[in-house]
Amino acid sequence: MATDNFQAPDYYLLDELLTDEQKLVRDTVRAWVKKEVSPIIEDYAQRAEFPKQLIKGLGEVGAFGPYIPQEYGGPGLDQVSYGLIMQELERGDSGIRSTASVQSSLVMYPIYAFGTEEQKRKYLPKLATGELMGCFGLTEPDHGSNPNGMLSNFKDKGDHVVLNGAKMWISNSPFADIAVVWAKDEQGVIRGMIVERGMAGFTTPETHGKWSLRASATGELVFDNVKVPKENLFPDIKGLKGPLSCLNSARYGISWGAIGAAMDCYDSALRYSKERIQFGRPIGGFQLTQKKLAEMITEITKAQMLTWRLGILKNENRATPAQISMAKRNNVHMALTIAREARQIHGGMGITGEYPIMRHMMNLESVITYEGTHDIHLLITGYDVTGISAFE
Ligand SMILES: Cc1cc2nc3c(=O)[nH]c(=O)nc-3n(C[C@H](O)[C@H](O)[C@H](O)COP(=O)(O)OP(=O)(O)OC[C@H]3O[C@@H](n4cnc5c(N)ncnc54)[C@H](O)[C@@H]3O)c2cc1C
Repeated sequence: MATDNFQAPDYYLLDELLTDEQKLVRDTVRAWVKKEVSPIIEDYAQRAEFPKQLIKGLGEVGAFGPYIPQEYGGPGLDQVSYGLIMQELERGDSGIRSTASVQSSLVMYPIYAFGTEEQKRKYLPKLATGELMGCFGLTEPDHGSNPNGMLSNFKDKGDHVVLNGAKMWISNSPFADIAVVWAKDEQGVIRGMIVERGMAGFTTPETHGKWSLRASATGELVFDNVKVPKENLFPDIKGLKGPLSCLNSARYGISWGAIGAAMDCYDSALRYSKERIQFGRPIGGFQLTQKKLAEMITEITKAQMLTWRLGILKNENRATPAQISMAKRNNVHMALTIAREARQIHGGMGITGEYPIMRHMMNLESVITYEGTHDIHLLITGYDVTGISAFE
């Protein structure tokens, strides 16, 4: 993208609902994205490369573990601030937001929530700065929507366990220093552990050929008789509720992130509709273009309201997993629809890298699938309102 002229839409003056601290955090990340991400992201996405040089800056703006307390090296922000950071990062690119989401909610959060004091002190401060990068291994080749069926397993060998299995579709895996891995013990109970790069038998082959999240590195985690010291296991958390509580936090962030991608597409389409002349007038003057833009800003505004309220509930520890599912599902679908409509408004130019539209659209095709697919989240809402599970 040549220049980033982004102006955030705020149709219902939602800024007035934010605290000064939340606005400061948002504006800091917004400015950082304009300066550091926008000028390079198209190039990196085209080359299918993660811009590693952004890691330090992400740490500096508080994007790694925003709500982790300062005692453990995090910024100690509230949940709305966390959401706003994800919104701004995804306004730049879903791949950059994915890196921050994984580091924050899928690596730092479980270490903070389930780790021993030693694990917290050893890993969290370095993860907060980006000195250490992490990934999260739940999905397997044959177990995506149904992680409970996972085959990765470990055996107790006294002072260590021996881990075997494979994880697939793991964001950050090709460069991560540590992996939070979920595997079954000899009784078939899911446990979490921290696996470090360099442990014998642990490899992280990269997944190539993605048309989506091209600026995010994705790969596998392969465990071939990996000896993991017992002190790397999370001591108490057992069963699927461990990984699911991490996903809850990440999905919450994604619900904000998707708004960022939608805002960028809308903003670009609005500007283009005023500049592009056809039949002697700006295309924004045609009723069909106005319908698209009016519907976009309506849906963005609804999502902003929904998600802000979710943030308040999350701050009060009252947000339910089903409420988070609703927001993730609604907002990602909304963003994808807006990206497609924005592409139409840009005409042929919409398919080029001169505008961010196609990149957002392709990225959102992953976002609508990972962290629980669009349909699985619908079934979670269905379960929540009927009390009858359609998928278990
Ligand atoms: C770019 C990318 C990055 C990712 N990063 C990570 C990561 O860092 N860590 C990690 O652990 N995972 C990661 N994932 C994996 C992601 O979470 C899974 O892709 C997702 O959970 C879906 O699993 P699946 O792809 O195996 O699809 P499947 O589970 O095979 O689903 C295929 C289709 O079947 C539908 N389906 C499945 N079950 C049902 C049902 N009961 N009723 C109705 N429909 C159903 C689904 O909705 C979907 O449409 C990532 C994925 C991608 C694409």
